[in-house]
Amino acid sequence: MNSNDLRVGQGFDIHRFTDDPDRILVLGGCVFDGERGLEGHSDADAIAHACSDALLGAAGLGDIGMHFPDTDPAWKGADSLTLLQQVVRLVAADGWGVANIDCAVVCERPKLAPRRDEMQQTLTSIVGAPVSVKGNRAERLGALGRNEGIACFATALLVRGSSETELR
Ligand code: MG
Repeated sequence: MNSNDLRVGQGFDIHRFTDDPDRILVLGGCVFDGERGLEGHSDADAIAHACSDALLGAAGLGDIGMHFPDTDPAWKGADSLTLLQQVVRLVAADGWGVANIDCAVVCERPKLAPRRDEMQQTLTSIVGAPVSVKGNRAERLGALGRNEGIACFATALLVRGSSETELR
């Protein structure tokens, strides 16, 4: 494999909590009952959004705001797993297979560890390659430390003309 056949991408997303009781909290495609939801045009799944941006960045295909603008009513309340799936298709159409994605989520609540396997399995099935999710607290520093929202950093690796399964 030639180094020209690899691309790394970084994605970041942050959403603030809302007191709107109609907003449900969705992270990594999983619903967290009994937790405050996040503000956003779509379902505000910060993990799925960061993964999408990491993939688009790696492929040099812009960002999710460009492909799925929040001014477009088509994406209002959108299931972000559908967006992520479309991003995987865009990247594949450009000749890239996903090797893996690694996510670091920063929040005080909810506790992610009990749902980590479920989020990883959900994201992995959508992406078609391993997706790992790690939770980190902000140690009471700043807005995230005051439990005002949730941020996610994601790193994606793409391989030219190959899927993760072919690599093995
Ligand atoms: Mg977002």
